[in-house]
Amino acid sequence: MIPAAFDYIAPASLAEALEVLGERGDSAKIIAGGQSLLPILRMRLNAPDLVVDLGKVAELRGVFDDGPGIVVGAMTTYSDFLADPLAQEHAGVLVDAVETIADPQIRHRGTIGGALAHADPAGDVGAPALAMEAEFVIVGPRGQRVVAGEDFFEDNFTTAVGDDEILAAVRLTKQSGWGHHYEKFVRVSHQWSVVAVAAAVRVEGDAIAEARIGLTNMGTTPVRARACEEALVGSALTEEAVGAACAGVAEGLNPPSDLNADADYRRHLATVLTRRAVLAAAGA
Ligand SMILES: Cc1cc2nc3c(=O)[nH]c(=O)nc-3n(C[C@H](O)[C@H](O)[C@H](O)COP(=O)(O)OP(=O)(O)OC[C@H]3O[C@@H](n4cnc5c(N)ncnc54)[C@H](O)[C@@H]3O)c2cc1C
Repeated sequence: MIPAAFDYIAPASLAEALEVLGERGDSAKIIAGGQSLLPILRMRLNAPDLVVDLGKVAELRGVFDDGPGIVVGAMTTYSDFLADPLAQEHAGVLVDAVETIADPQIRHRGTIGGALAHADPAGDVGAPALAMEAEFVIVGPRGQRVVAGEDFFEDNFTTAVGDDEILAAVRLTKQSGWGHHYEKFVRVSHQWSVVAVAAAVRVEGDAIAEARIGLTNMGTTPVRARACEEALVGSALTEEAVGAACAGVAEGLNPPSDLNADADYRRHLATVLTRRAVLAAAGA
């Protein structure tokens, strides 16, 4: 289908983009890589009057050292993120996840910020970002604000970013030296996650000293599994011990039921995949 007609503007700076959104934010849509927005426009699920292209806003691109964290500009493409030495060194679990997204063409266009702002619960960026204790830098007419962790994701395809605001960057806590793994369950290759688990662990001696776990497609938003993280502290690196610590990971969660899997099967998958992801991250 052909999208409904819209005006198009490509501001050259963040200030200019915010000015445009300030005037027409309620009838405008930002376009980043277009990998989710263009199909939506073509299916006429949304028909904005104005599309604001952030492609020329250079200040939104790149990966930067921020002391205890790294800052990823929202317009950083998946490919640029994967090629970045800071990402490789400090953000292993997000690198693992981004490597599983679609194909090289989509990774060439799709952006980290676009994926986070789109907030598809089956998307592969949100859960590893939560497992890296993400903070989301949002800019708007009232200046900049930072939204922490789960507070960013409000519901299916809904975040804390307002109509007149832009997600500028995501700040991730460095996990240098941590083990990491993204365990993604799909029925055929290149599919979206039926369920996936992002695991980052710091091992000391023969036991887990710290763990961070994020779950993909286990609710209307990405989930950080804090109780499981706590249960894993001190766990031996055996299948039995890790399995016992991960047994309750799906408790209290309401995953979707669809043609790929019903909710009970997703809860079972989350338990199995978390055990696998943690063991792989720990190198056990
Ligand atoms: C065939 C195919 C397969 C795919 N498979 C996967 C997969 O396996 N896993 C996966 O995770 N994803 C997958 N994707 C989606 C892909 O990851 C998209 O790139 C991503 O969801 C959106 O990023 P984008 O940069 O293209 O954003 P866009 O499509 O440009 O924008 C998405 C939404 O976010 C908003 N937005 C974008 N940037 C900002 C910003 N800075 N501030 C505020 N709002 C913003 C837009 O207005 C829009 O509503 C797939 C896509 C396709 C086409």
